[in-house]
Order: sequence, then structure tokens, then C-alpha cells
Amino acid sequence: MPHFDLYFKTEALRQRLEPHLQLIPPFFEFTVQTGAPEVRYFDQKDPMWKGFPFPVPAGTVYVFDDAIPARALGGGMDMRASVRVTREDRDDEAIILRIWHEILHAIGQPADDMARRAGEWQSVSERLMWAAWQSLSRPGDVPFWHRKFYSRLTERAARGRQD
Ligand SMILES: [Zn+2]
Repeated sequence: MPHFDLYFKTEALRQRLEPHLQLIPPFFEFTVQTGAPEVRYFDQKDPMWKGFPFPVPAGTVYVFDDAIPARALGGGMDMRASVRVTREDRDDEAIILRIWHEILHAIGQPADDMARRAGEWQSVSERLMWAAWQSLSRPGDVPFWHRKFYSRLTERAARGRQD
């Protein structure tokens, strides 16, 4: 089971988000900390990542709320993940889903492929619902579907499968 040291930059962030962590299945184990891990920065000329801190030590997740120029809200790879909370973020569960998304990347799961791999992870009834949803031109990128998809990817990881 993957274990992460999960750093919330401030006590306020920790108190706000830690109670919702149970949304993420216990396959992922966390040791919660307050503060910042050692971080590095990606290409500072890339507007996607400008000023975006990323953990150096393996097995580390960093959740921060700095106002930075980067467009990215999260990144995850190679047993490391970083998630940003913005001033516009009102939905705490959506932030937890963002953490779940990035730690799936961190363990090598295809977290971006929800729509492309719909045939692989949806049940028959979900497929019908998905088709109806799309015929109403609703965006699939919503917590309802994220939760289902991330649950299936987590089960997949627990069975030892990667890409
Ligand atoms: Zn992603």
C-alpha cells in the first residue's frame, strides 16, 4: 500500500481538509504533517508551472495555498504530488478529489483518462448514464464521475496494475 507524508502548508488548511481525507480509500496511507517539505520548481519559463512547488523526497504530498502565477492546480508523478488550493476553491471535497487525482498519477495510474477509458471502468448502467449525460451536453469533468473513476483506478492499483 502506498504511504505518503501529507503536508498541509498551514494549520488552517489542515483543519479545513484533514476531516475530509476519509473520502480517499484506505489503500492510500497518510501521515499528516503541518508545514512544507523540501520542494523544487519546474521550468520557470513555463506559465503552467511558474512558481509551483513540488516535493523533493519520495512519498511526499504537499498541499499549499500560495498565490502563485502557475496555471496548474496540481501535479503528481514518481511517488510525489503537489496540490494547490486557490481563493476560489469553496468545495472542500473537490480539493480532496484533486489530491486523490494527483496521488493516482504519483503511483502511475492514468488519472487523466476518464473519458478515453470510459469503456474500461464503467458498469453497464453507468455507461447508459454517461451517454444520457453527454447527450445533455453536460461536462463529464464533475465530482460525481471523478469519484467513480478514481475508485476504480484505486481498485486497479490495489490489484497491482499500472498503465
Ligand atoms: Zn492529471
